[in-house]
Amino acid sequence: MIDVRDLRHSLQAKGVRLIAVSKYADDDAVERMIAGGQRDFGESRAQRLRERARRWPACRWHMIGPLQRNKAKYIGRHAAMWHSCYDLETAEAVARHVCNQPLPVLLQVNISGEPQKHGIPPDAIDEMLAGLRRIPQLRFVGLMGMAAREGDVRESFALLRHCRDRLGDPSLELSMGMSQDWPDAVAEGATMVRIGRALFD
Ligand SMILES: *Cc1c(COP(=O)(O)O)cnc(C)c1O
Repeated sequence: MIDVRDLRHSLQAKGVRLIAVSKYADDDAVERMIAGGQRDFGESRAQRLRERARRWPACRWHMIGPLQRNKAKYIGRHAAMWHSCYDLETAEAVARHVCNQPLPVLLQVNISGEPQKHGIPPDAIDEMLAGLRRIPQLRFVGLMGMAAREGDVRESFALLRHCRDRLGDPSLELSMGMSQDWPDAVAEGATMVRIGRALFD
């Protein structure tokens, strides 16, 4: 198991933010991580995110999983950032529950080409962005992607970076890299990595 403090600091030195994915972790494990100074956490289920955001309001809770529309309010109200936005109807549903500041949103792009993976294809980004920009409660801040388990991981991450570069805004975030592939993601320019098992197992 990697020490969360060491990993966070070495990533920080490269300008990369560590999202500790706590979806399989119990509350005690989350508590230990908070004691270690960790503040950014990822959850893939909306209800769990709400519970934990209420319990630990000083932390930032990132939604990283597919979202059912009837759970949109949990994300609109409680998420610090929504990484897994890939359809406009769900985005509109989330927007209706955002209060105060606009919610930072990443577009999830299917960079592995696997049909079972969520996300929009790279060539649909412009159209999706045009729709997203019409929703004032959501603020587009970058792209999220997942590499295939097998095959050329580097190539998938490079593809997401190209998609970002094409948008012409170098300040946009790139959320990519998990337990087994985050070094490659960082090498390809990730600004956020989402690591679960390697931290909590
Ligand atoms: C679970 C999950 C992660 C973390 O995966 P690990 O292999 O546990 O590091 C990252 N991103 C998403 C979207 C996930 O669902």
